[in-house]
Formats: sequence, structure tokens, C-alpha cells
Amino acid sequence: MKEYILKTAQSGFAVGEAFLLKDGGSGSDSPKAAGDESARLDSAVSSLRQELASAAEKAKGENAGIYKAEIMMLEDPNFIGEAHALIEKEGLDAKTAVERAGRSVIEELSASGSAYLRQRTDDVKGLTDGLLRILRGEKQKGLSSPSVLIADELSPAELSGLDDSLLRGIVTVKGAPSSHVSILAGNLGIPYLYGSVEAVASIRSGDRLILDGEKLTVNPDDEAFQAAAQRYDAMAKMEREEKKPASGEKSRTRVCANITGPQDIEALLASGAEGVGLFRTEFLFMDRETAPTEEEQFQAYRSVAEAMGEKQVVIRTMDIGSDKKAEWLKLPPEKNPALGCRGLRVSLGNESLFRTQLRALLRAAVCGNISIMLPMVISLWEVDAVRQLIEKVAAELTAEKVPCKIPPLGVMIETPAAVMIAEELADKAAFFSIGTNDLTQYTLALDREAQGLERYYNPCHEAIFRMIETTVEAGHKKKIPTAICGELAANPAAIRRLIQAGIDELSVSVSKVEEIRSRVVETEKSLLEEEETDTVASPVDGQLVPMQDIPDPAFSSGTLGRCFGILPDNGSIFAPCSGTISEIAETKHAVTISDETGKSVLIHVGIDTVSLGGKPYTIYGKVGERVKEGQKIMEADLDMIRSAGLSPMVIVVRCA
Ligand code: PEP
Ligand code: MG
Repeated sequence: MKEYILKTAQSGFAVGEAFLLKDGGSGSDSPKAAGDESARLDSAVSSLRQELASAAEKAKGENAGIYKAEIMMLEDPNFIGEAHALIEKEGLDAKTAVERAGRSVIEELSASGSAYLRQRTDDVKGLTDGLLRILRGEKQKGLSSPSVLIADELSPAELSGLDDSLLRGIVTVKGAPSSHVSILAGNLGIPYLYGSVEAVASIRSGDRLILDGEKLTVNPDDEAFQAAAQRYDAMAKMEREEKKPASGEKSRTRVCANITGPQDIEALLASGAEGVGLFRTEFLFMDRETAPTEEEQFQAYRSVAEAMGEKQVVIRTMDIGSDKKAEWLKLPPEKNPALGCRGLRVSLGNESLFRTQLRALLRAAVCGNISIMLPMVISLWEVDAVRQLIEKVAAELTAEKVPCKIPPLGVMIETPAAVMIAEELADKAAFFSIGTNDLTQYTLALDREAQGLERYYNPCHEAIFRMIETTVEAGHKKKIPTAICGELAANPAAIRRLIQAGIDELSVSVSKVEEIRSRVVETEKSLLEEEETDTVASPVDGQLVPMQDIPDPAFSSGTLGRCFGILPDNGSIFAPCSGTISEIAETKHAVTISDETGKSVLIHVGIDTVSLGGKPYTIYGKVGERVKEGQKIMEADLDMIRSAGLSPMVIVVRCA
């Protein structure tokens, strides 16, 4: 038994057998004696036959027949017999022999006059690949028992290509909590440890592993392994039983979910999410040999939209590039891929690919409440270019009589440039969603996957909070909502500050929706209680106007502090709290009262009345004078204000 302490990308508890993703090498082996190579080949054929037989057993109907036909083909002497002959006559190693024999059978079948035989070339190719995989020492991609995935480094495509129902944990040498692999692991609710060359090097395929917090145990004794397995089963059972329907307690801040495809629908519906805040569509483009067709994409978007009914589904256009590679796209290698062709840049640089995605999105928009969201925006022209393309695509679909709809277009705020031009972007966007993972990377000048620099990658850095506040402010000023869909949305240490910033929505991994919703409900309650113990009286009789409806952005944006308005019945203004008059405006339309704790209240009478030179106002009191709550401090001539065409609204601000 060996124990290691690793770094935690996703914390948790798991038990399983080691599954080495990249085991053995590729290329030809140096051939051993012909007898050895023939025996290797026989053993590989027998393993593949077993795999196919067990797949046939699990499959139903037509699919079972396909596997059985493949087993028969595996026994065809033209293929395996030829490989044996090559080993014996030409002294080839088993892998090269299989490759050569496979190629020659495929050539023969392709040249055949029979359509049936020509169609069998795919089967032979599949069998050749299967044998080569086994000869290379790699297991089948689908896991066959509860497993912990072991790799030096893992790409999102490699992870999403695995059967996640049996995946219990991940251990890699290279990793980072904010990497896309880590985000995927979080979505699946599985622990992920990284950072030890020694630990990974010591693990052999099939070793028994326990992941517990930051501790990795390799090959514990039987008793410890059984106890851990029982603990795991008990925890999984408890989790299933605890999956009660959402409490129904609603928060003001919406809590939505991040997904990567239709495979998440079941968990999404069970999570109680109020919508999908981020559908990372790039996962539909990865781990495959060609781009997904329009129809394939349409079905994926439609199925999520239909499952969510009236609830919002925000679908982000493909954010390919950097660590999310689509090999078939053959993007040229870059020195700094995170600063290169990524996200919207890939889409705008590959117009036909992008048009296909937009066509699928516009068609799916008819089936539910879909919005489109753009990743990695830095400039206004990018949004204009996409909108123009959307309009073209809509016209094209309409001409083809294909039902379609143009959905709202939102922008991700994940670069400092987007934050700085948020006000202008808000004129072009229906909503914002802040991608704090990338915003942290680009603001702190730190690759989100940098190794050994975790202490510098701090999404709770004051700079990030200020960027969020700036974005929310700009959005609200232009009356569009702002969400957070990066990992910060699920960080308990950040929730209070995010709610105080006025964020409208938090979108988190499906497995965290319930936990975050209850934290948000609690936080909102406690903030409300604090506000209630901090009340001020109304300075005048009249009709209450909520902050967001005050017709002056300086107040309605909340920049000056929490405030409310009153449409006054008369001009007698009273102190809304006790304190000292700390300021009287030169044009007498505003008085500030401060208390001993330094908190102050501004009473602002009329909107934009400076031009009246103070004529409508009489102040009772001087700066430095104490006043009591309810004491008259001003008389305002409301008729004079109204007859100048101005609003006499009284605004009370709890100064920030
Ligand atoms: C982000 O950057 O915060 C984000 C949500 O996008 P992704 O993690 O997919 O880059
Ligand atoms: Mg991002």
C-alpha cells in the first residue's frame, strides 16, 4: 500500500480500479521470435472476441447481430490467417502484421463488384483498430468496471469520450482546478486529484485506488478497500435518497445550470435549475473525425430546449481552441493558444462551420426558450458581424421555408476589454454572462492551467470583483441582466459579494444547483435582515417609487447607494433620520444628514433642478446642526418645479 497527498481540482471520495488512459506505445515493436508474436496475436484476437461477445450480450436486436457478424469476420482466415503468415514469413511484429493484413483485406473488399462486400470495409477497419488497441496495451474506451482514470495529462475530448457512468475519479500529473477537464469532472460530480509525477508513475492498470479529499491510496489491503467501497456505496445511496425535489424556496437571484450536451438533460431536470445558463456546445464538436452536421446539432439543441419548456436555455456558440481541441478542424499550432484562435475568433474565421451552427440554433429556437451567447468577445464589431450573419441565415432558412426564429443574442464578458466597453456592448446585447474562469486568466495574466502557480490564480481577487461590479452596473444602466457562469458562481466565499453586486443569475454545474440555491436563499435573507435594521423614514407624504424606476440613472443604477423615490403630495420635507446636517447643496435641492457611525442619508428634491438656482427651496437648518427624525428641514415649491417642466420626485439615498 502507498499513500500520496495530491492537489485537489475537485474534492470528493471515490473508490475504483486504475484505468490507464495511455498505456503502452504506438508504432511498431521490435519483433520477438515469430512464435511469441503469433501468440500475442492469438491472445489479442481472443480478447477482442470476448469484448465483442459481451457487447453482443448487452445489445439488443439488430445491434447484437452486428457484433456477432464481427466475431465471424474475426475468424476469417483471409484476415487473421494473413497476419499470422506475415509474422512467420516476413518476421513482422504482431502490430505491423495486423496493420498490413487489415489494409490488404480492405483493398480487396473495396475493389469488389459486390456492394455488400464493399460495405464490409468499415467492419474490417474497426476490427483492425480494436486489435491494434489491444496490442498496444490500451483498454477499450468504454470502462468495464468502476474506474479511476489515470493519465499524465487529460484533454476534455479524451474525458468526454469515456463512459462516465463507471468513472469514479481522475488522477493526472498535470492539471488545474479551473481547467475544462476539472469543470467537466465537477459537472459529473467526481473527484479529481493532480500534481504528483511519483503517484501517477507508481500506478499500474487495475490497481485498487481510494481518493479521499487530497489523499490517494494505491493498493490498500483488502479490509481497507472493502470498507472504502462500502462507504462509497452508502454515500451514493444517501445522495440518491436525498435527491428530493427542490424546496420551492425561491431566490431573487436565479440559479441555473451549465451543461455540455443532451446527455445532461436527466440530471438537469432533477437539479431544479431555473434554466440553462451555459450550454458549452464545443463539446459536440470534440472527440470526433468531422464536424457535427446541422441536423445533429439541431437535434441536440432542440432536445434541451424541449426538455426545459418555457425555461431559458442559453446556448453558447462553439468555444473551440486553446485546450478544447477539435482535431478535425486542423487549427495551426500556436505558441500561446489561449491568446490565439479561440472562441468567436474560430467561428468568424470559419464562416461555413459557423453558419451551420447558427442554422441549427435558429431552427431549434422555434422549439423552446433559446438564447444565443457569444464567447471571447473583445470588440463591438464582432457582435455586429454575428448579428449580420444571423440575419442572413434567417433569410436563407425563411426562403427555404424552414421554420426558424432569431433568438436573443447575449455576450460573454470574459476579457478585460469586454468589461471596459460593457456599456457600449450592452447596447448590442440582450444579456451579459460573466465567464470568470477566463476573466481571471486574462485579468491576472495567468494561464488558467498554469502548473504550480495556483496561489496566483485567484478568482476572488479584488480586481475580479471590481470587474464584475463594473459589468453589472453597465448592464443595469442599459436595463439588461447580468449572469455569472464561471466557476466563481459556485464559490461559497464569493456568493455574498456577487449578490451585493446585484448579479441577476448564477449558473453552476448541474451537481451544485441545489447547494448554491440554498446558499443564495440564506444570503439574500441575511442581507435583507441587515437592510431592515438599517431603515430610514419617509421624508414626505406621497407615492413610493422603487430604485430601478427612478428616471435618473445616477440613482437607478445604485451607484450612489441604495435609494427610493417618492412622488410628493406636498412640499414639506422632514428629516428621515436623526443626525447632523453634513452638507447642503449650493442650489439647496439636496441635504445630507450623517449619524455618529459615519453613515449618511441624502435627501434630494426634484430631478435636474440645478437650473432653477435654488429658488423653489427654503432650508431649515445649517451644516453642523443636529436634527431629529421627523423634524422639518425643507419647504419646496413643487408648482414652481413642475411649471419648469421638471419632476419634483424626492429621492432618499442611503449613501454607499
Ligand atoms: C469562463 O471562462 O468562465 C466560462 C464559463 O467559459 P469556459 O470555462 O468554458 O471557458
Ligand atoms: Mg471562457
